[in-house]
Amino acid sequence: MGKYCFGIDVGGTTVKLGLFDVSGNVLDKWEIPTVTANKGSAILPDIAESVLQKMEDKNIKKIDIAGVGIGVPGPVESSGMVHRAANLGWDTNFNIKNDLENLIGIPVKAGNDANIAALGEMWKGGGQGHKNLVAVTLGTGVGGGIIVNGTILTGAIGAAGEIGHIHIEDNETEKCGCGNYGCLEEYTSATGIVRLANRILDACDTSSVLRNGEVTSKTVFDAVKTGDEVAMEIADQFGKYLGKGLAIIASVLNPEIFVIGGGVSKAGDVILKYIDKYYKTYVFHGSKDVLFTLATLGNDAGIYGAAKLVIE
Ligand code: ZN
Repeated sequence: MGKYCFGIDVGGTTVKLGLFDVSGNVLDKWEIPTVTANKGSAILPDIAESVLQKMEDKNIKKIDIAGVGIGVPGPVESSGMVHRAANLGWDTNFNIKNDLENLIGIPVKAGNDANIAALGEMWKGGGQGHKNLVAVTLGTGVGGGIIVNGTILTGAIGAAGEIGHIHIEDNETEKCGCGNYGCLEEYTSATGIVRLANRILDACDTSSVLRNGEVTSKTVFDAVKTGDEVAMEIADQFGKYLGKGLAIIASVLNPEIFVIGGGVSKAGDVILKYIDKYYKTYVFHGSKDVLFTLATLGNDAGIYGAAKLVIE
């Protein structure tokens, strides 16, 4: 087995790359732009060139590389078959493992970016020491990654873990990005919290610091910390939706731990308090004691998880 591996996280604007040793120490990390023009046809050649260049710079031979792991924003089967990735311009199904292997001559494993970030958090982040974990990313949208017995749960075509699109509210008139109504993401993503906040602010005339200036998930939770009554009501509704959603997940999967990440989680432990209150209300008693923690790897979770993919 090689001494090194690469972990790659392909995003809509940049590709993050990391060179790791097989113990999981990051030796180097860097980024290249994601060129989505021409249906993203340059993305894999650009990645291959960057990886091969790094090996030359560091004087690392192919035989010293255990493999290259890569995460992409879309459903990926364990075989490496990608079912489109709209953010990257990829509009057909193709096997990313085979295509990248042909370009670099090193074994490749691929997965969905949110699933891989979950693997990264299990390996070197908030979920260390656990083998049954659900990672929840509260960003612009809500992503999820499920790890069962140390392995990513991909599902039939790689669409498992899409927890942001659990139907949680029947009375919703605004459409989610996926085309359905009342998805978890519509209330618990960074943009979802702003939507909740504006609804609650419009429905009352209670004074609140949120009435002065821009409302973001950060300003909401900052206001919660100062005891702002309206902000606490917003946080309570956020917690009710997410606590209920995670209770549903736990009743199915019985994980050991939920790892909460993404921009919203930067508010800190205060969000866990609101989630836990409703989680405990709704969950099956067998999963009452599931742990909650914050993600610790931030934007690097993807490269760690991708690296772990090839050395497990
Ligand atoms: Zn949806």
